[in-house]
Amino acid sequence: MKNYSIWEDIADIECPELKDNKEVQVLIVGGGITGISTLIHLKKDNLKVILVERNKCGYGTTGKSTAKITYLQERIYMNLRKNLNDTQAKNYLDSQRYAVNLIKDLIVKNKIDCDLKQVPSYLFTTKEDNIKKIEEEYNFLKNNGVDVTKVTNVFFNKNVKLALKVNDTYVFHPLKYINYWKNKYKDSIYENSKLEAIKKVKGGYVCLVNGKIIKTKYLVLGMHYPYFLKPFFLPTKSYVEASYIGAKNTKGEDFSAINIDNPTISMRRDNNNFIYLFI
Ligand SMILES: Cc1cc2nc3c(=O)[nH]c(=O)nc-3n(C[C@H](O)[C@H](O)[C@H](O)COP(=O)(O)OP(=O)(O)OC[C@H]3O[C@@H](n4cnc5c(N)ncnc54)[C@H](O)[C@@H]3O)c2cc1C
Repeated sequence: MKNYSIWEDIADIECPELKDNKEVQVLIVGGGITGISTLIHLKKDNLKVILVERNKCGYGTTGKSTAKITYLQERIYMNLRKNLNDTQAKNYLDSQRYAVNLIKDLIVKNKIDCDLKQVPSYLFTTKEDNIKKIEEEYNFLKNNGVDVTKVTNVFFNKNVKLALKVNDTYVFHPLKYINYWKNKYKDSIYENSKLEAIKKVKGGYVCLVNGKIIKTKYLVLGMHYPYFLKPFFLPTKSYVEASYIGAKNTKGEDFSAINIDNPTISMRRDNNNFIYLFI
């Protein structure tokens, strides 16, 4: 049994460690999909930008995810309606559909070899009590222009009571995707380079990375919560969560799916890789 992510089974591209002081317009911290996506878009605008990653790009959460590109995300739309309002829920839906297309277009336009595949996404429940919640999510999507269908029989789980299905969603190989951009922007990425401190100064920030100084006008933290800034301080809205991911080789139709029950089960299959995740 492997105890590392299946995505990590590919040849790595190395970027250097930071060894000199630098002065830039934008410093991005973290080489996961957040940091790399920021780099891609800032590079398009010809900004003087560098990215620092304390380990290897993509080997954080991004390289351990199920790598589904979908806007079906548990009960997100009903939760946003309840806790905010209809407009914010609609804005979030639009942003997620925009992001799905953005990443797909980037892959297609740049001919990135990262196993992109269009597969249907499902949102489902195996519990009688949750059928109404799936209906609510369905109505919201339908009323907001999504081509969504309701299904009661799904091939991947015979206990499903009700599911939603959309077709304009994808899966990919996250590390092949990250490696393409690493290769393209090698001169702007420093790996094994850890942000250790940040000081706000007039006109920007002074950052300490591997003992070197980086002066920057703008700073993007794509590294989750920066615990080192306030050691031992856990904000009240943070919590620790464990998830368990596995993969096996099975044949069948390609798809991705997530439930709204407890525990959360997220899964996908493509090229005979069946990947499942319990949260
Ligand atoms: C098990 C699991 C499955 C998931 N599946 C999906 C999915 O299928 N589809 C989907 O859209 N989302 C999925 N998600 C959510 C998604 O993976 C994450 O939201 C996304 O990968 C986060 O990317 P990130 O770049 O913000 O963080 P990360 O990928 O974790 O990158 C942060 C980087 O910051 C670096 N860093 C941290 N501290 C420092 C420092 N001091 N100096 C320099 N670098 C530092 C880390 O080394 C790391 O590489 C999943 C999440 C989990 C946990």
